[in-house]
Amino acid sequence: MAKRIVILGAAESGVGAAILAQKEGFDVFVSDKGSIKEHYKQMLNEKNISWEELKHTEPLILNADEIIKSPGIPEDSPIVVKLRNKNIPVISEIEFAGRYTNAKMICITGSNGKTTTTSLIYHILKEAGYNVGLAGNIGQSLALQVAEQNYDYYVIELSSFQLDNMYRFRANIAILLNITPDHLDRYDNKMQNYIDAKMRILQNQTEEDAFIYWADDPIIKQELKKYGIKAHACPFSLVSKEGMIGYIADGHYTLETPTPFNMEQENLSLHGRHNMYNSLAAGISAKLAGIRNDILRQGLADFEGVEHRLEKAGRVRGVEYINDSKATNVDACWYALESMTSPTILIIGGKDKGNDYTAIAGLVKEKCKALVFLGADNSKLHAFFDSFGLPVADTHSMKECIDACYRIAEPGDTVLLSPCCASFDLFKNMEDRGEQFKSLVRAL
Ligand code: ADP
Repeated sequence: MAKRIVILGAAESGVGAAILAQKEGFDVFVSDKGSIKEHYKQMLNEKNISWEELKHTEPLILNADEIIKSPGIPEDSPIVVKLRNKNIPVISEIEFAGRYTNAKMICITGSNGKTTTTSLIYHILKEAGYNVGLAGNIGQSLALQVAEQNYDYYVIELSSFQLDNMYRFRANIAILLNITPDHLDRYDNKMQNYIDAKMRILQNQTEEDAFIYWADDPIIKQELKKYGIKAHACPFSLVSKEGMIGYIADGHYTLETPTPFNMEQENLSLHGRHNMYNSLAAGISAKLAGIRNDILRQGLADFEGVEHRLEKAGRVRGVEYINDSKATNVDACWYALESMTSPTILIIGGKDKGNDYTAIAGLVKEKCKALVFLGADNSKLHAFFDSFGLPVADTHSMKECIDACYRIAEPGDTVLLSPCCASFDLFKNMEDRGEQFKSLVRAL
């Protein structure tokens, strides 16, 4: 009898996993406690895959040989606890899809910069004419592409939640960008649990693989003493050249191996210190994948950036508006503020994931002329920032927020939406927050 695979959560990764599982001959069932989007229902129906929504019917789930869990479902949800008690293996969609492809896997993780770096690598490989797929948190799921395409390479963005349920998956080229507090609400508020999830990217790597990492990150440095690196180590840095594969010094972006590469920093399309890290990580991985220097130079220079990441939203009456809605933690906002070169009105707030704002206190004092709080409940922000002596506006919708910014801003200022928080208190998601910001700026 065919083995039974049950998939929990029917969005991009779940539906992709279901289609691949069916193709591989499993008995497949999909269960979602919420409602399933019409488009995904159609995909499942077309393949005759059985599914349910708005409930988890236990007899249909607890008889599975293996469970593929969407990364959005927390470990302590009742159904997952029951599965654990019955010792039914729970894996991620990426783990599952990895079993059915021999493509080379370039995997990117870190607290910040994943989407940017993943998109940049994909852009360079595409420009070089590689047969490559983009997967993970962006675009189509890995499982669906494994089922329906035949790529030689995948560039995969991996969140800590995806890494949580990965066991045998092997990254041929792994990138660890940084580790700073994020999602602590999902990790019992224990930083070490979150760190351990990120370090899982190293597991199963062999001497044939490569591990690219930011060597200046204190947490990564500390953890590597414990974990060790089996793969070919490729550190990059902005403070030292010593022992580094990639660095930027004297205005030059430099890679040492596999063959030397050099270009002027000012020709990189991405700006800001954080993007130097992202560009180094991307360049090293592209070289390891065999990309020629001229194509790498072109790819690093003509990449257009990613929406909602320090994206210019418009200039109105001499005021620059920047959409960094994706800055859903304090560290991302730190880099955004650090790259500001004019008096800044910072829009901050939303669903707080256990933030400590101390890290940005110095930059707020140095760069900001006013703060606009944007959240359902702004009390924590008031408690932290009110004593700074900056003008503060308290707002509860994007309309109110933009009106406040418009009132405060003077020509030469920058309005920066870089909220440090998730968006779910007032918006559908961070894209919705960024779209509303942009359309209201356009309407000014
Ligand atoms: P992720 O996919 O990891 O969330 P993104 O590329 O979407 O990363 O960027 C998220 C936020 O973090 C953006 O606000 C961006 O400006 C900022 N950011 C991008 N790269 C880095 C980095 N290397 N270090 C710190 N912050 C970064």
